Amino acid sequence: MQLTDTHCHLDFPVFESDLATRLAQWRQLGVGEYIIPAVGEENWTRVMGLAEQHAGIAYGLGIHPWYVGAQTEGVLARLHALLASEPHGLVAIGECGLDLRSQVPQEGQVEMFEAQIRLAMEFDLPLIVHSVRANDTVAKILRRFKPARGGVIHAFGGSLQQAEAFWQLGFRLGIGGVISYERANKTREAVRDMPLEALLLETDAPDMPLQGQQGEPNTPASLITIVQLLAQLREQSLADVASVLHESTRMAFPRLGKAINT
Ligand SMILES: [Zn+2]
Repeated sequence: MQLTDTHCHLDFPVFESDLATRLAQWRQLGVGEYIIPAVGEENWTRVMGLAEQHAGIAYGLGIHPWYVGAQTEGVLARLHALLASEPHGLVAIGECGLDLRSQVPQEGQVEMFEAQIRLAMEFDLPLIVHSVRANDTVAKILRRFKPARGGVIHAFGGSLQQAEAFWQLGFRLGIGGVISYERANKTREAVRDMPLEALLLETDAPDMPLQGQQGEPNTPASLITIVQLLAQLREQSLADVASVLHESTRMAFPRLGKAINT
């Protein structure tokens, strides 16, 4: 089994010590590929550096909706220039998107998301989309732009109808620890009923711990439990699920194979 954690923040401080040793441990478990989405200009250099230093790491570059207000003037021009330089290991734009929860500042979120969709279209890259309490608005924006490369709705939570809408727009659904929670019924049903090809695996480490592990930092090792839960939920064999997901990951991120083979 060779799994890709399509969304993990390995650049966060909690992973700083001993990353090489931990990567080797996760690889032994079957998780050998990682996509690190950037969250803002302040960590672009760091995610690029990790891909340089360690095998199996690719990354996205973008601005997370939480950090829109913290960016400085000209950030989009600098992102554009960086993308144009075709840095090694780059596989996506993100993470970007909308978070419509009241505790998150809303100012500039839509404009920044739309600007990053335009960049994805210009550079023919998939988008890694953060969509919290925003599925219908995100779908509406994506329908307007129709980015040809599509991408992934990371940490998908929502109904089967919303899942189908994203899939029709060329977006896969990032499936993580959410499916370990009994109360996430609607999402579990959607994940069970969608075509397997529409799904990707992710942990969102160090966030989104599995049920029973709340309070501890999540790690890519959780991907093993997540793929087992997914196979159970869908009543499919683990081997079949893992092999379809491997294919889908390559289709969603066409540059991944080259990015991680240094
Ligand atoms: Zn994330």
